[in-house]
Amino acid sequence: MRFNPEKYRIPDEPMKPFIEPGEIWEYLVNAKPDPVRVKEIIDKSLAKNRLNLEEVATLIAANDPESVQLIKNGARTIKETIYGNRIVLFAPLYIGNHCTNNCSYCGFRTANTSQERMTLSDEEIVLEVEALEDNGQKRLILVYGEHPKYNPEYIAHTVRLVYGVKKGKGEIRRVNINAAPFTIEGFRTIKEAGIGTYQIFQETYHPEAYKWYHLGGKKTDYEWRLTALDRAQEAGQDDVGLGALFGLYDWRFEVMALVRHTNHLEACYNVGPHTISFPRITNASAINVRKQYFVSDSDFSRIIAILRLAVPYTGLILTARESAAVRDEVLEFGVSQIDGGTKLELGSYHEKSKNEQQNLNREQFTINDNRSLNEVIDELINKGNIPSFCTACYRLGRTGEHFMEFSVPGFIKRFCTPNALLTLAEYLQDYAPEHTYKKGWELIHKTLKNELKNQKNLPEIIERLEQIKQGRRDLYF
Ligand code: SAM
Ligand code: SF4
Repeated sequence: MRFNPEKYRIPDEPMKPFIEPGEIWEYLVNAKPDPVRVKEIIDKSLAKNRLNLEEVATLIAANDPESVQLIKNGARTIKETIYGNRIVLFAPLYIGNHCTNNCSYCGFRTANTSQERMTLSDEEIVLEVEALEDNGQKRLILVYGEHPKYNPEYIAHTVRLVYGVKKGKGEIRRVNINAAPFTIEGFRTIKEAGIGTYQIFQETYHPEAYKWYHLGGKKTDYEWRLTALDRAQEAGQDDVGLGALFGLYDWRFEVMALVRHTNHLEACYNVGPHTISFPRITNASAINVRKQYFVSDSDFSRIIAILRLAVPYTGLILTARESAAVRDEVLEFGVSQIDGGTKLELGSYHEKSKNEQQNLNREQFTINDNRSLNEVIDELINKGNIPSFCTACYRLGRTGEHFMEFSVPGFIKRFCTPNALLTLAEYLQDYAPEHTYKKGWELIHKTLKNELKNQKNLPEIIERLEQIKQGRRDLYF
């Protein structure tokens, strides 16, 4: 039978489902990964072009050591030439773990009776944010279970509350959210509160596999979740993040589906995702998941490298679900954002954990990187990466379609690297211990001398760094 994925394809229409497993498998099964073709595909990506499904399937099938190396090198080159050595830092803030769904991989599931249920009060949210600001955080992602309590009005309220907390020189400049899907009206309400990215993971894009894990509640509706980002776009929320929970189904299918989702958003709304996440399942209380689809470390690094090549303009997020060792290793394949100083136990940024160990009964799942924000920053600086708390694009309206427009040659050096340096300088002045302060400023000076030496706005960057030393804050390009 001839290879013909089109015969399965569902046309892209706004707010209509678009995943057809037959189409994705047709590509995967028929992929022919000879080294010449692999090289051609990598070159296409290095020229900053999006890859199509056939090309992504070819990279996935190319599992001989030589091709894997080529793919990883390609991803590394994109990271170095397009993104530079900045890593944007954020922290998650869990607001409440009430949940009416029964997702078998998650500690918040209704069936988990050992989970201690709570929603932070407004006072507790303020204390949590103050503690996060005291650590130097500037960007948060608020996370909620799915429950009538966490309706759009409540979420909008918590977002405004967080923006209002200012302690010392601290403030939160960007609040993203990860929450259940809303109606268009609901998305309008949370957009008005000034959120950055609305993030939602499809968990698994395979409709049958989706049924295995989603055993009760609204989340059983695969299509309502799949079309959530369409409704976000309809509501004007053009800054969206997508993801799949790796370990639920064949990773090759999920990578293809993430790209298919990107194609859908581009086709219907002319804007791709701002970020893609690829969490791997970790332990959780009352978890009930078969291990057959768990992803090994070596496949995990391939996933990141392939996504980097497939969607060169999109930010890739790697979280503290991964150990420090894995994070350090895969960072170079194109990750652009990581969390630092993460605590998942509700209320634990301002309150010491009741257990010295992680408290599975108050958190969604375990994390494997328990380093403080400063330890993460130290490690980034040691490897020559610039920790960044930049929020400039979002605040200057450079989002959605515009974000893509701005992903042009020179943009990173003109805006992103200087903004990374300015926000790092603020951190060093306000929060860093002596040893971090010293090596942080060394990195700033080295970057000015080398990477930015021919930048037209170099004098202005130096002037602003000086102003930060004098006590000015929140300067950006
Ligand atoms: N309740 C909302 C929802 O389901 O969309 C918010 C999301 S949940 C609090 C954040 C994400 O954590 C989920 O979308 C899922 O991908 C991920 N997650 C759940 N259980 C996990 C586990 N055991 N290990 C790693 N990630 C997990
Ligand atoms: Fe609830 Fe989300 Fe956990 Fe599912 S993944 S049980 S919806 S918090």
